[in-house]
Amino acid sequence: MRLVFLGAPGVGKGTQADRVTAQFGWPKISTGDLLREAVRTKTALGLEAKKSMDAGQLVPDSVVIGMVRAKLAEPLCENGFVLDGFPRTVPQAEELNGILHDRGLRLDRVINFRVSREDIIKRLSGRRSCSKCQSVFHVDFAAPKVSGECDRCGGVLVQRSDDKPETIEARLKVYDEQTAPLIAYYEQKQILSELDGSGDMSHVYDRLAKVLVGLGAK
Ligand code: AMP
Repeated sequence: MRLVFLGAPGVGKGTQADRVTAQFGWPKISTGDLLREAVRTKTALGLEAKKSMDAGQLVPDSVVIGMVRAKLAEPLCENGFVLDGFPRTVPQAEELNGILHDRGLRLDRVINFRVSREDIIKRLSGRRSCSKCQSVFHVDFAAPKVSGECDRCGGVLVQRSDDKPETIEARLKVYDEQTAPLIAYYEQKQILSELDGSGDMSHVYDRLAKVLVGLGAK
C-alpha cells in the first residue's frame, strides 16, 4: 500500500509509521530523517539544508523532491511505502503524483493525524532522540529506562535543535501556511482519511490499523 502520513510536527506520524512498517512491511520514508542524516554526515545537501531546518523553515522543494524520487525508485518500495513528512507543500504533492504516474502508480491513501495544539507543544518540547539510532522517546510519555540513554542502543538522548520553543512556533506557522492546504488538496482527490491522533500511542495505532485493514491492508 502506498501511503502518506500528513499532520503537524509532533502529531506522532513518525512513531506510527514505524509501527506500520513493523506490522505490514512497507518501508517508512521520512524526509526529516533523511535530511538529519545528511546534516550529520555533512554532505553538500546536508550543509545546504541545515540552515532552514534550524530555523524551522522548509528545505527547498527541489532538494526534498530529488531525495524522495531516488528513494521511491529503490526495490524496497516496490510493494508500498509510508511517506512521513512528505509532501509538505502543494508543489511537492504535484511532483509526487508525477513521480508515481510515470511508473503507472498512485497513492492509495493519505492519513491526516489530528492532535490539539496544546498536546503538540507538549509532545514536541518533551521529545528526545537517540544521537546514534534516531529512536524517539519522550521525557513524560515514553521515558527511557535510564534517563538520557537510548533503550535500544545505549546512545545518548538529545533534544532536536528544532524542538526548542522558539523553533516549534516557527514550524507550526510553516505547517499552517504551507502544509495544511494539503488536507483540502487530498480531500478533493477523495483519498483522505482523518485520524484522531490524541492519547496513548498504542490507542492511536489501534485506530490507524483499523483504518488500514478497512482499506484492504494485510
Ligand atoms: P520532520 O522530522 O519531518 O519534522 O522534519 C524536520 C525538518 O526537516 C523540517 O522542519 C524541515 O526543515 C525539513 N523537512 C522535512 N521534510 C521536509 C519536506 N517535505 N519539505 C521541506 N522541508 C522538509
